[in-house]
Amino acid sequence: MVYLDHAATTSVRPEALAAMTEEFGRLGNASSLHGAGRAARRVVEEAREDVAWALGASPNEVVFTAGGTEADNLAVKGLYWARSGADPRRRRVLVSAVEHHAVLDPARWLADRQGAVVEELPVDARGAVRPQDLRAAIERDPGDVALVSVMWANNEVGTVQPVAALAEVAAEFGVPMHTDAVQAVGALPVDFSAHGGLAALTVSAHKLGGPVGAGALVLARGVDPVPVLHGGGQERDVRSGTLTVPLLRGFAAAVRPAVAERAEHAERLRGLREELVRAVHKAVPDAVLNGDPQERLPGNAHLAFPGCEGDALLMLLDAQGIACSTGSACSAGVARPSHVLLAMGADTDTALGSLRFSLGRDSAPEDVEALGAAIGPAVERARAAHGTRRR
Ligand code: PLP
Repeated sequence: MVYLDHAATTSVRPEALAAMTEEFGRLGNASSLHGAGRAARRVVEEAREDVAWALGASPNEVVFTAGGTEADNLAVKGLYWARSGADPRRRRVLVSAVEHHAVLDPARWLADRQGAVVEELPVDARGAVRPQDLRAAIERDPGDVALVSVMWANNEVGTVQPVAALAEVAAEFGVPMHTDAVQAVGALPVDFSAHGGLAALTVSAHKLGGPVGAGALVLARGVDPVPVLHGGGQERDVRSGTLTVPLLRGFAAAVRPAVAERAEHAERLRGLREELVRAVHKAVPDAVLNGDPQERLPGNAHLAFPGCEGDALLMLLDAQGIACSTGSACSAGVARPSHVLLAMGADTDTALGSLRFSLGRDSAPEDVEALGAAIGPAVERARAAHGTRRR
């Protein structure tokens, strides 16, 4: 298979697999007081140190979760409950219009069920939030803002947000800012401590060579979200639940090399991505690269194919053994245009006719060559089918 969908998930690194395999053979609940429990606890604390090192955080700022979705929910709901609980005037939740659904949907749920007022910050044509727009939104009434959430890098079009500038604005008004860095860690330099204004940051293991089902929310000192999960009081009572020791060890075993090799890896992916875009343009001259040409994830190429339905094109490529993705979610067989592209000002046809190719650790020049050979005929067939349907 030619796998061009690393933004969806990555293969588990061999060192992470070996670490998890060993750990799955052991017995021990990290909350138990006996020797086996203490050994499991040591594994968790070592993993916490590794994850903290990788993110430029302190170990006591890392709260383990079962992945990115859970960490995002904890950040958005937990910070909202804490802030509005302390001052009922704080009801506004500012999120960018291009967030992942793991941020957008909890925010909308808070609006539907809990009286929150959600404002979506607009983005420019490249998908970036302008710091002045955040400033204007907060200045309208700094006293009623509960939190801000803007992702580090977009999972669809790959645009990198001006996180430092946004965090500075939020800090100036004393508003906690969360950032979903799921796509950024291992691809871009992510240093939590360098952004004094950041209150919370989400990371997920399976996007960087670790297992599905492990992640973390980094919380700056003094930031205390109300828990979403209540129970045994693990993770400083912020996130109850028996810790998944083997997965956390796998997470740590993956995140260390992913971050240590990041610069070299990113350089290679950037070159390969440029190759990919060139190959697609050669076969389909009117394909358009969406997002920011420079400020984007190194492995991300998101392209619009005028006159095509993205889903149809995806299936034609899949038949050739090439795996990629559309941003549009399919519900009841009807493709919905990507909210990210619509927020960037794209028309519905572009939003429905785009594909994401995402490169990763396993990607090689042969993958790009295979796509270059397959994309021209696939686009031709998708255009013919689309034209027939329209007539
Ligand atoms: N946030 C972003 C930006 C993502 O790309 C994803 C995964 O697609 C998530 C959150 C959800 O993470 P997880 O799959 O670990 O729940």
